[in-house]
Amino acid sequence: MSPPTNDVTNGVVAPPSTLAPRVPPTTNPTLTTINPPSHKRTPKDFIFGKVIGEGSFSTVYIAKDIHTSKEYAIKVCEKRHILKEKKSEYVKLEKDVLNMLADAKHSFVRLFCTFQDSERLYFVLSYAKNGELLPYINKVGSFDIECTKFYSAEILRGLEYLHGLGIIHRDLKPENILLDEKMHVLITDFGSAKILDNRKTTTTTTTTTTTTSDGDPDAQQQQYRRERRGSFVGTAQYVSPELLTDKTASRASDLWALGCIVYQMVAGLPPFRSRSEYMIFQKILKLEYEIPDGFDELAKSLVSQLLVLEPTQRLGALDAHGDGYPSIRAHPFFEGVNFETLHEQTPPPIYPYLPGTSEHEELRSQYRVPDNLEPGLDDKQLTRLLGLGIGEDTDDDDDITTTNTTSVERSAVNKPVNKTTATAVKPIRRINNNIDGGAKIADLTPEQIRMRLEKQRATNQWDTFVEGNLILKQGFVNKRKGLFTRRRMLLLTTGPHLYYIDPFNMVLKGEIPWSPELRVEPKNFKIFFVHTPNRTYYLEDPEGFALEWCRAIEEMRVHCYGLQETTAA
Ligand code: ATP
Repeated sequence: MSPPTNDVTNGVVAPPSTLAPRVPPTTNPTLTTINPPSHKRTPKDFIFGKVIGEGSFSTVYIAKDIHTSKEYAIKVCEKRHILKEKKSEYVKLEKDVLNMLADAKHSFVRLFCTFQDSERLYFVLSYAKNGELLPYINKVGSFDIECTKFYSAEILRGLEYLHGLGIIHRDLKPENILLDEKMHVLITDFGSAKILDNRKTTTTTTTTTTTTSDGDPDAQQQQYRRERRGSFVGTAQYVSPELLTDKTASRASDLWALGCIVYQMVAGLPPFRSRSEYMIFQKILKLEYEIPDGFDELAKSLVSQLLVLEPTQRLGALDAHGDGYPSIRAHPFFEGVNFETLHEQTPPPIYPYLPGTSEHEELRSQYRVPDNLEPGLDDKQLTRLLGLGIGEDTDDDDDITTTNTTSVERSAVNKPVNKTTATAVKPIRRINNNIDGGAKIADLTPEQIRMRLEKQRATNQWDTFVEGNLILKQGFVNKRKGLFTRRRMLLLTTGPHLYYIDPFNMVLKGEIPWSPELRVEPKNFKIFFVHTPNRTYYLEDPEGFALEWCRAIEEMRVHCYGLQETTAA
């Protein structure tokens, strides 16, 4: 990240005076609620609960004010670490922006007060109970249009306010959009923001200028590596082209990021993806992204008007500053949205949903996870919050093909199936991909398992991926995420495990994580959903054995967890 050029002071962490509550408690209603008069907060005023997130130089805790019992998110930054990492500008900037946003009634994480002790700085923030937007997109694969509309509108309204104050976010992305207890948007992370000089509409980052390397890709890449450090604000996938070329950012840079986020909500993945940052940047500079089959037409129109290389040509870029973005609001995608009352509206629920192809209807899930995401803050939750996703999907890389089923396949796949029919009708073909006639694991003796394992080792090419477990069922499936599909070999094994392998590169891509909560939901002979607490997996068996898969997985669940048979359907 480049050091900000103005607006903030250089040097060490903010002196104590600047870390005091923003305004005297008597004049600030917010601080009056948190702060009994003339009482400066210290860590002793809070009961620190669990860690809810970690940044590069901060740890965020949930904490309860002992005077009011109110919950806050307290971001704790080690002074020593900030100095060592030369992040004092970043911290100061974040605090300045949060202070500027103190009067915003909604849309932003709110800073209630700051204090410090000899080792740490404390930021007392509103607690976004439902975490980040990103895991919600990942959980359901894609948002339906109603959800996309609502969340795009809330983000747009936040940007209108932010830009009205002359602040560019510069790192807008689904990880920086938090959700409050009612699932409304709270934009956060202003450490990369830019406070514009009122006379200017753009800002230049203080970095070296890129010189070309005569088209030699290796030289360009090397040069890129040299310049990457300190030359780039934001996150690769959402960064605007002008930031890469001229190192300038304007309000329109955030509109580019908005375009990327709208795309991601509809399609399930951001528009510019690759294995390396360098390749992502090349795609951004060439405006190289695809609109997959089934992408909503109005959303496509909006996205294509935001993802425009020339910043001034982006929808909204020429709207008068300070008046919001009437031209974006007027886009037909937002038809019917009442922007003024968004924060009072109940957000549409985020349900598992499989977008259809352009010709066919979507498949909606009948299944409802008890709460939006798993409650509690155990290790699994932290893993989710920290975006580690260990043991889960690693399939978000570049080896993605858009849905390419033939029209014949599609009509079979998408034929509406009512769930009674789906479960009642017997499969047309016999199971051909169960191992050894599909014996139930419960029926196998240890000796039989040993013999089968021996045979598997000698004859089954997928054996190397299953860590010594016995494969009970295997088969090619199309694993869908949003509007994208990948072909995978799915392996149900003892353990239990559900491994999936990239059959072209013969690489283990991940596992569907098992737990007693795992549920299968057949949608028709080809499509079935596997619901886990943190994600719904959309799987298509082109051979038409979806019901067999569901039965085998459910049997395994009952065998391992001793629970009653209940599929989601
Ligand atoms: P970096 O500092 O590296 O850019 P970051 O901005 O994500 O990372 P933090 O602001 O320290 O770092 O936040 C760390 C994590 O804590 C976030 O990813 C978020 O999930 C969680 N978090 C931050 N603020 C809040 C909040 N007000 N309510 C709930 N969770 C929060």
